[in-house]
Amino acid sequence: MKTFIFDLDNTLYSKALNVFGLIDQRINRYMHEKLGIPEHEVDSLRRHYWKIHGVTLNGLMIHYDVDPEDFLEFVHDVELKRILKPNKKLRKALKNINSNKVILTNGSIRHAENVLSALEIDDVFQDIFDVRVASFKPKPFPEPYLKVLEILKVPGRDCVMIDDIPENLKTAKDLGMKTILIGLSNGHAFIDLCLEKACALGEIAYSDI
Ligand SMILES: [Mg+2]
Repeated sequence: MKTFIFDLDNTLYSKALNVFGLIDQRINRYMHEKLGIPEHEVDSLRRHYWKIHGVTLNGLMIHYDVDPEDFLEFVHDVELKRILKPNKKLRKALKNINSNKVILTNGSIRHAENVLSALEIDDVFQDIFDVRVASFKPKPFPEPYLKVLEILKVPGRDCVMIDDIPENLKTAKDLGMKTILIGLSNGHAFIDLCLEKACALGEIAYSDI
């Protein structure tokens, strides 16, 4: 039996809902209000950190000695229930996957719980792993994947990773996992299957994966 490892944001709900836009604003506010970084420098600094460290948080931890718990608490303090509504079709599709299902997110467990609760799929997953799982090393670095495999005691070849970011699936494939991209196909050889949205998981045959 396969273990299905799901990304959270923009995978279990549509990117078009722009939930990340809300978190983005909070990150910018954190950098400006709490760290005193001039507003006009925030964007370029964040782009720089993405390139070097994968996510903004790791850059801020290294260069501004930011407490990651304080950061995660602040940036995920967003009103999700205005945007995310219960998704019965997704719930049915996930329930039909007769396998162990877990979340691996670069966000926080609290944010994941809020998202899953808003979508009313919070009872579907056996576990949630967040950016803390490998000491704040985010996807697509291999550390969080390896840590999850170690905790679940499963080899990569027995897992399916579902994510909206191709780069995150590249690492999964390197570790032997099957990969499903939520989004448009872009011809990457490391992607086994592309689905327009997560509820389309209900329409595929698992013997194909
Ligand atoms: Mg995502």
